[in-house]
Amino acid sequence: MHKRRRPLIAGNWKMFKGGPTGLALARACVEVADALHHVEVVIAPPYTVLAAAAAECDGSRVALAGQNVHARTEGAFTGEISASMLADSGCTWVIVGHSERRQHFGETDALVADKVRAAFDGALTPIVCVGETLEEREAGRTLEVVRRQVEAFAPILGKLSDGRLAAAIAYEPIWAIGTGKTAGPREAEEVHLAIRTWLHDHGADLAHDTRILYGGSVKPENADALLACANVDGALVGGASLDAASFGAIARAAEAIAHATSH
Ligand code: PEP
Repeated sequence: MHKRRRPLIAGNWKMFKGGPTGLALARACVEVADALHHVEVVIAPPYTVLAAAAAECDGSRVALAGQNVHARTEGAFTGEISASMLADSGCTWVIVGHSERRQHFGETDALVADKVRAAFDGALTPIVCVGETLEEREAGRTLEVVRRQVEAFAPILGKLSDGRLAAAIAYEPIWAIGTGKTAGPREAEEVHLAIRTWLHDHGADLAHDTRILYGGSVKPENADALLACANVDGALVGGASLDAASFGAIARAAEAIAHATSH
């Protein structure tokens, strides 16, 4: 099978690895990425190490992401960070609407859409997260919930995504994040294919270009099977991205699949 999208492996460090341990991890990720040719590698360290990590990653194959962004360009919003501040710190990407932001910080579909717009306005490419809770899955509402989340920002992607700033979407079932449980490849592919089909209503190029990442306890042991799915274009990795060896193994799994399908 021929996969036309370049795989994207992104590490979400969450509120871990500030200070020297973060810099050491960034350096190790540069080494990982140096050996890869078919995979794009993104890391999302905490804000405090972004600028120093940017210096470590300068000229390398590792790009930096913010973990969150405010919807406004500036203002009296104590503790928040704007897209241009992230860009000034060396970011070219930003994670938007992570389920932890939705669950613990009250982010709604409408706010996530505003943040997607703010990301593009600040020349950052968003990785927008969607995913259902366990209750929603058990009630058979997965596709309904994920569709509602995607439709909230898909019109913006349709207008603002282009070849240079092709957004990514991360499907992250909430019950699989940090729990050690993963969606099986069949469960993941069903949702990824549905997302791509919905994107079609907003543009054929958008549906074709958007990388749809899987997230939720991705590890070296399950990465192969998930990344081999036709509509899984990479992974958003939490826990396993805190260790360069496991993050590297996941990135190399993506590289092997991309290499095999590029011939
Ligand atoms: C995440 O936070 O985006 C994530 C997928 O975490 P984990 O890999 O730890 O489940």
